[in-house]
Amino acid sequence: MSVCWFQSRYDKEGPGGTGKDYINCPMNRDEYNAFIDALIAGEKTDFKEWEASTPYFDGCLPIEVMAERGPETLRHGPMKPRGLTNAHKPDEKAYAVVQLRQDNALGTLYNMVGFQTKLRHAEQTRIFRTIPGLRNAEFARLGGLHRNTFLNSPRLLDPLMRLRSMPRLRFAGQITGVEGYVESAAMGMLAGRFAAAERLGQTPQMPPRTTAMGALLAHITGEANAETFQPMNVNFGLFPPVEVPPGPDGRKARGRDKVPARKRAYTARALRDMDQWLSPGSKAAE
Ligand SMILES: Cc1cc2nc3c(=O)[nH]c(=O)nc-3n(C[C@H](O)[C@H](O)[C@H](O)COP(=O)(O)OP(=O)(O)OC[C@H]3O[C@@H](n4cnc5c(N)ncnc54)[C@H](O)[C@@H]3O)c2cc1C
Repeated sequence: MSVCWFQSRYDKEGPGGTGKDYINCPMNRDEYNAFIDALIAGEKTDFKEWEASTPYFDGCLPIEVMAERGPETLRHGPMKPRGLTNAHKPDEKAYAVVQLRQDNALGTLYNMVGFQTKLRHAEQTRIFRTIPGLRNAEFARLGGLHRNTFLNSPRLLDPLMRLRSMPRLRFAGQITGVEGYVESAAMGMLAGRFAAAERLGQTPQMPPRTTAMGALLAHITGEANAETFQPMNVNFGLFPPVEVPPGPDGRKARGRDKVPARKRAYTARALRDMDQWLSPGSKAAE
């Protein structure tokens, strides 16, 4: 944040009511031109045959397609600098700005506004880390493009995956707005457990918020921003922050060791809480 700053365009008040809903990453002319060149030169994933006949939705073109339409396109689109003042250098107008928008209630995930892309994943991390302020960014989920049918679950479903407007209908799997085999199966299993509990006249036991299933369920059924909701893979950004214990040498992990240490802490906590949830005698295990 010594490079970036919080501000909504024209200080407009958003859901947070502060006028500071976005993180802004400023670029000067040279940085912008180098970024556009990198997008155009970057290696892309190919279209499958059936995808080639599906036109892009014009409201969310991949950024590399916009860059190919002309070097100024992005600067007048998702990267426009208007209505923003660099808090660190108020007299210097940014040539372009990348905006990050908070993606979950915990504030552990931010998405890059308007940055749909078909760049290969390694290219995305390489090129996006050249954006000022994102040199050390951790990418919880990279961009990709495919067609998906899903509900706006944060708005439509209750915490037990029932349609708010008609609770006799319960949804399971991918249609609830998760992405991937394991995630779909997990949401199928939870929907099954909730349905069974309901049928047996029991109180359904929610998976702990600290486990992957609990974190994903909480995200899709309420914590995700309904306005920008997109199918979600499970990832560490969905978990409530964790205290990282010191290593065997009694010292706190630093530098390169910090991320693996944090992931181990998330995982250890999740396994412990999942065990407890399923342990004999617990309500969930019955
Ligand atoms: C091209 C592609 C590649 C993918 N690759 C991966 C990958 O590598 N790794 C990964 O983790 N995930 C991948 N996924 C995502 C993954 O396939 C899905 O998230 C997962 O299969 C969803 O499981 P599901 O059971 O929720 O839904 P589905 O598998 O879609 O099952 C829904 C079922 O309902 C049936 N159905 C629909 N309507 C009706 C109806 N009216 N009556 C009766 N039956 C009906 C359908 O025929 C289907 O069998 C990929 C998806 C696609 C499209």
